[in-house]
Amino acid sequence: MNPFTYERASDRQMALALGSQPGAKYLGGGTNLVDLMRETIEHPAMLVDVTGLSCAIEETGDGGLRMGAGVKNTTVAADRRVRERYPLLAEAVLAGASAQIRNMATVGGNLLQRTRCGYFYDAAAHCNKRTPGAGCDAIEGFNRMHAILGASASCVATHPSDMAVALAALDAAVTVEGRNGARHIPLVDFHVLRGETPHIESVLEAGELITAVTLPPGLAGRSSYRKVRDRASYAFALISVAVALDVQNGVVKEVRIALGGVAHKPWRARKAEAALKDGPATERAFHAAAHTELASAQALRDNAFKIELSERVIADTLVKLTALQEIR
Ligand code: SF4
Repeated sequence: MNPFTYERASDRQMALALGSQPGAKYLGGGTNLVDLMRETIEHPAMLVDVTGLSCAIEETGDGGLRMGAGVKNTTVAADRRVRERYPLLAEAVLAGASAQIRNMATVGGNLLQRTRCGYFYDAAAHCNKRTPGAGCDAIEGFNRMHAILGASASCVATHPSDMAVALAALDAAVTVEGRNGARHIPLVDFHVLRGETPHIESVLEAGELITAVTLPPGLAGRSSYRKVRDRASYAFALISVAVALDVQNGVVKEVRIALGGVAHKPWRARKAEAALKDGPATERAFHAAAHTELASAQALRDNAFKIELSERVIADTLVKLTALQEIR
């Protein structure tokens, strides 16, 4: 690990002042950043500890919730309001990691965790994300876990977060603050598909600090997060599906779908949503909509199975949520 200095911010102003210094990085739970430092993938000159800032979940006044960036994942999953109004978010957080990691990991840090592409963590491998212009060993290598949507010739990595996939389906917004003030960014626009510049993963600017994630009022109907992985616990998603669905009299009134494990960012399935809205809530329509979404998917050597798997899990989740609504 390279040498670095450590500062604990006592308030937001101090955090922003320290975080704007060259080589500074904010430290939340450290569950990914510290690993990356040990592997010398990340080498900040200074860690600015922001744990202890923004640690509350509050009502927004319009029926939504505002989660401070420092709230632990365990707290999110256990919060009664989250469990009752946004069950897919609680499910995603619980599916995301071991209890020990959830006790450390924060809302803000969860959004900024980096890909688990094995070549990214291997300093001997060619990786455009780690070293821009170096090449990508995953494209011709072992790429079973890699992207099928929105990838580029420079990088085929996936985003590893489960929580962010649920937040994408919930139309959450991310609040960031910098020395020039605050801005609010839709979660679906926070992470980016950067084509030739995969080392740029979000719209966060130098020195900016994530301070909160806001959930709009929950949808009517039911929601669910499904994660398919190689083993039952503590594994990253092969694919995951977050769905919120409202069916009335056999017709889809509202639907939101986001996919994880398939792209460089949480993937909002807008084409599937458009195909389903105001249409029949039938298994056939669900499969057709899922197929529409995956029509542009491109498989690598080892991950073609993800295309059919995604279609099936989207359709099956919609079927199950429809059945739950019918027995409500
Ligand atoms: Fe690096 Fe992306 Fe290629 Fe993985 S897929 S080796 S992260 S450039």
